[in-house]
Amino acid sequence: MAGLKLNNITKVYDNSYKAIDDFNLEIKDKEFVVLVGPSGCGKSTILRIIAGLEDITEGKLFIDDKCVNDLDPKDRDIAMVFQNYALYPHKNVYDNLAFGLKIRKVDKKIIDEKVHEVSKTLNLEDLLDRKPAQLSGGQKQRVALGRAIIREPKVFLMDEPLSNLDAKLRVQMRSEIIKLQKRLKTTMIYVTHDQTEAMTMGDRIVIMKDGVIQQIGTPNEIYRNPKNVFVAGFIGTPSINILSAQEFKSLLKLEVEENLLVGIRPENLEIIDGDDIVISVIENLGSERIIHLEKDSTVITVKCSEDREFFVGEKVSLRVKNEDMLNYFDKNTEKSVLI
Ligand code: ADP
Repeated sequence: MAGLKLNNITKVYDNSYKAIDDFNLEIKDKEFVVLVGPSGCGKSTILRIIAGLEDITEGKLFIDDKCVNDLDPKDRDIAMVFQNYALYPHKNVYDNLAFGLKIRKVDKKIIDEKVHEVSKTLNLEDLLDRKPAQLSGGQKQRVALGRAIIREPKVFLMDEPLSNLDAKLRVQMRSEIIKLQKRLKTTMIYVTHDQTEAMTMGDRIVIMKDGVIQQIGTPNEIYRNPKNVFVAGFIGTPSINILSAQEFKSLLKLEVEENLLVGIRPENLEIIDGDDIVISVIENLGSERIIHLEKDSTVITVKCSEDREFFVGEKVSLRVKNEDMLNYFDKNTEKSVLI
């Protein structure tokens, strides 16, 4: 069990590309932190730095208050699970699970106990004799997790571990990993480009863009008070509507200073009778509908959970349900502004 501190970490690759710029993050013992951001923003680089697989160009990394910049990966007591399971194809599940302990020359009897304990935790008991080729994607992923757990590391690192799974299994594995982390009480750092995964899994989320942290906070804090337009647009599906002052006035008959942008979540809008906006697309999701509306060249999205019938081409009006839930941003800096 361990806390981590990343102090002013900068990473410049050999080709002089700066992948990480002044990254500061403190992770508490037993915390589940998710790093999220678009592809190429530096998430994997940070994980690889923590694991010791990449050198740090500037800054310091602490594990339990000990600076580990120069500590070998094998001495860091960290386990990493990747997107590609990298199981040994010729070994069965039992031997895949046991391998890490065998090379550490752990006693055979203890290895056997641990393999059975871990396979019970992960529901792998009936699969111990199978080779990886005889397993489904979800089962392989559980074996990969098991191989990491069996070592009882101080810190778990996971790099997009669910992206090879189909949608249903991904949702199932998401909750299994959350339960597992709570049960094992291990510090977990999880990387994903999927904002839903970040929102549902993390105690705290770190949102990154171009190697720079944009915001750190709980899922609620980030959803409710995004620090800039990028974060506002990245978190939440469908995306937040960002309107200029003119658009805000034209679509919603509300006034705001000219130098501001207004962020309105689709669930904070209501379609009412009127004739100034046209419905252009209706996505029916069963329990709710995502309705896209257009006026001039502005498109706005509404999440609608009422029963009322709508049709494409229909003219309606819009109303903000709760003005306290609006977000405001400076038009030039795109940073949030409190008003
Ligand atoms: P993410 O995990 O967010 O997709 P990465 O951490 O893998 O992003 O990469 C961050 C940036 O650093 C990307 O632009 C990537 O192309 C670049 N990068 C990654 N590894 C190397 C490397 N070994 N040499 C040069 N550039 C690299």
